[in-house]
Amino acid sequence: DRALRRVDEATADLRDDILQREAVEQQLRRREEELVGFAGVVAHDLRSPLSNVVGYAEMIGLVDDDNLTSKQQGYLGKVRTSAGRMQELIDDLLAYATADNTTLRISEIDMVELVESIVAERRVSAPDATIDCEPLPSVQGDPSQIRQVLDNLIGNAIKYTPENQAATITITAADDAADPDLCRIDVADRGIGIPESQLAEVFNAFTRAEGSEHYPGTGLGLAIVQRIVERHNGTVGVTQNTGGGTRFWFTLPKTTASVRVPKNEPEED
Ligand code: ADP
Repeated sequence: DRALRRVDEATADLRDDILQREAVEQQLRRREEELVGFAGVVAHDLRSPLSNVVGYAEMIGLVDDDNLTSKQQGYLGKVRTSAGRMQELIDDLLAYATADNTTLRISEIDMVELVESIVAERRVSAPDATIDCEPLPSVQGDPSQIRQVLDNLIGNAIKYTPENQAATITITAADDAADPDLCRIDVADRGIGIPESQLAEVFNAFTRAEGSEHYPGTGLGLAIVQRIVERHNGTVGVTQNTGGGTRFWFTLPKTTASVRVPKNEPEED
């Protein structure tokens, strides 16, 4: 009897613990949502004053460049670079804050076409890059959001390749081993790589791996990638690329039936 009572008590304690932990987790999630919402509002409000700074700095450079001393030109250059970084951060913050609450408009995406158009845009800043892309299948998703996912990954692969080395990027696709309804897309590069111990953390917002200090960045791109992919019912991951560099991957539904429509969104026809 006593033993049974002890088991009952232990079970009740365990249940209390679980309930308590669930309550704390829910509270943390709510706090995170509030913080992200707040960051979104701030980013939105900073956008127009900052574009004034960028615009006027641009104008001084265009109109008054001849009247500036070289010292003043140096200062102006610093204003432009810093304002440009701030714009990048604000755009990333906004994308991060809205990634969860914009309505998904799901349609069939021709991945080859999408990759080609991203590569064409990226070519401007990385003319020497070798970008191999095997025939990719079509997937289901929101075209502008999936574009952002691929653009962030391809952009990182180019950015985190040292300047004296031409970027080598390989994009491949295969059925997901765990779920036949999903297609897995890999973006592999031969850049600076990520230390093994930090691989698990790079998807966290504002987290940057050791070795990336010399490259501009906000630490938000991969957090945006993860949010978007998870909203599509997919998963993301990263490993070291055999032979050096990094291999990022994400999965996406192959059919509309396997796309998760979030609870607060009406199902699209
Ligand atoms: P950002 O590039 O703006 O810092 P991300 O969220 O896109 O932010 O990436 C987070 C971190 O992950 C980067 O700071 C960098 O340390 C690492 N990282 C991302 N992609 C790569 C890559 N292709 N090669 C090496 N490191 C990478």
